[in-house]
Amino acid sequence: MENVELYEILGVDKSSTYAEIKKNYRKLAKEFHPDKNPEAGDKFKEISFAYEILSDPEKRKIYDQYGLKGVQEGSDGFGDASEFFSHWFPFSGGQSHGGGGGGGGSFGNNRSRAGAQVVVKLEVTLEELYNGNVSKPVEYKRTSFCGTCNGEGGPEMTVEQCKACNGTGRTANYSFMGAFVNAFESTCASCYGRGTTIPDGFRCATCSGSGLVEEELKHEVPIEKGAPNMLKVLFHSAGNQPLVGERGDLIVVLVQAEHPVFIRRQNDLFLRDIRINITQALCGFVHCFQHLDGRTLCITNKPGDVIKHSELRVVTGEGMPLRNNPFERGDLFVEFNIDFPDDNFATIDQMHLLETLLPPRQPFTMPEDAEEVVMTDVPPYGEGGHAGAQGGMDDDDESAHFESVQCQTG
Ligand SMILES: [Zn+2]
Ligand SMILES: [Zn+2]
Repeated sequence: MENVELYEILGVDKSSTYAEIKKNYRKLAKEFHPDKNPEAGDKFKEISFAYEILSDPEKRKIYDQYGLKGVQEGSDGFGDASEFFSHWFPFSGGQSHGGGGGGGGSFGNNRSRAGAQVVVKLEVTLEELYNGNVSKPVEYKRTSFCGTCNGEGGPEMTVEQCKACNGTGRTANYSFMGAFVNAFESTCASCYGRGTTIPDGFRCATCSGSGLVEEELKHEVPIEKGAPNMLKVLFHSAGNQPLVGERGDLIVVLVQAEHPVFIRRQNDLFLRDIRINITQALCGFVHCFQHLDGRTLCITNKPGDVIKHSELRVVTGEGMPLRNNPFERGDLFVEFNIDFPDDNFATIDQMHLLETLLPPRQPFTMPEDAEEVVMTDVPPYGEGGHAGAQGGMDDDDESAHFESVQCQTG
């Protein structure tokens, strides 16, 4: 299908530049502005809507590719579709209730279900994701039919047919956009799609006549071994009960909590900042740590296998279990940081001895016109002195600071 309606509304074509679109929009918006042209309200909305989409490169791309349906359903990176649409089409449903988040509305029969969807986050630890076989309760709010009035909003004998929609529950307010129309027949704003209303004074006290009440619920969520961060776990028909139609779904998003020791990258784990001293780095060591399942693992490094500062090593098969194959696991990467000894850790004689063991110095001759300067420790931050060398806030100082850091490590 060629998605050109919005272009036609603005009198441009698919290859038009942003500047051309903007120019035509301004011209048309002026012409059809409700202040000037009260009869043309729909036309003005149409123009504004078309411009809203086509002036945004992201939305324009989605429209070009998937049409209006694509724009409303949203795609990755366009998650606010439902909010955006409720702005333009206040009665179109698709906004989320209760638990926050929200499915972008979709068209046709799915629409009320999407609006009735509840999305909640559940924080899970890395241990829980590593070990699996647990379930965790999530608390959330959802709507249900009011028990007092059985969802009618008031006593049955007072129920009247809705005057706004003649009892159909649907109104076709926005009938302006070709293929858009059928999809966008909207829910009646007076009766919320029920087709009936309760007169003032007879409305149910429990639900104020809405027919719906909010309830708090707990749901047990199984945590699968190796489940990825941000996994969406779907529970059919556990979400909001809309006035009309079936109960929506509950979607629980597993949010992986930060771990004090391990970092996860997909199926691999990173053990950061394992501190060993220079003797261990040069002469071998054994380092033990507790894994996420409680096992104590020990890494042995043989004498002579030198570990450098910030070096990364890998223990294969000790990462996260794979979700669909828990007997397979990713890898565990270990990063070492080397502690150096304090000042004056040895006598001058001992240092000469040490030099006989360590790699020889690079040959050095003092250049003839050299000027010798004194280097001292950098004072702790905030204790006055060398503000420039501390990376003082001035932009001008930044390059100087950078060089000074390079010199210290070089
Ligand atoms: Zn009620
Ligand atoms: Zn109605």
